[in-house]
Amino acid sequence: MNSHVDLVIFDCDGVLVDSEVISCRAHAQTLTRHGYPITADQVLERFLGVSDREARQTIETEIGRQLPDDFESKVKQATLQFYAGDLRAISHVGEAIAAIGLPKCVASSGTPEKIRHGLSCAGLYDRLAPHIFSATQVARGKPAPDLFLFAAGQMQVSPGRCLVIEDSVPGITGARAAGMTVLGFHGGSHCRPGHADMLRAAGALMTFDDMRQLPGLIARIGARAAVD
Ligand SMILES: [Mg+2]
Repeated sequence: MNSHVDLVIFDCDGVLVDSEVISCRAHAQTLTRHGYPITADQVLERFLGVSDREARQTIETEIGRQLPDDFESKVKQATLQFYAGDLRAISHVGEAIAAIGLPKCVASSGTPEKIRHGLSCAGLYDRLAPHIFSATQVARGKPAPDLFLFAAGQMQVSPGRCLVIEDSVPGITGARAAGMTVLGFHGGSHCRPGHADMLRAAGALMTFDDMRQLPGLIARIGARAAVD
């Protein structure tokens, strides 16, 4: 069982913590204040799972000028304020982590501070530290494969034996480009009808919306890979 899955790599936002809706609110508020009027829903649609750096490039190209140097820190400040009051772990993810008897790590587009704060607010930090990797540690964020390859390297597991849990198209694209198997999770409160189809189209092997399903899915994938 699990003989061909040696590492489970969790995305953070929307997979471990139910943070996407909160982050989108913080982004929308800060962008609107900087002359780029946008709603939380529009942020969700356009920038879900994209690293801060890639999102900044897109916005700056559209408005034809640079955002101020402290833009990210303003977004971060707003996000962390919202987190402290509103952030929750994804339902049952703590049980799922406890039930998966394999090495695990986190690979997130967020900064190390944001990941740590989010996981701490949700009561998950101690279960996953120190195996937490941020897009700030690699040249290119998701949808590039860099962060997944870096995480696999740090954990000393070959990419083909990694299983990634992702809730976004850029994340799935990056994991597939890294040569990894991906499960698409669509149980976060930001997910709309059609989200699972989108994740499958991006390359997720299977999709699920309840973390209680995850240990069983991992066992099935391990068994199937062993037969193949
Ligand atoms: Mg995510």
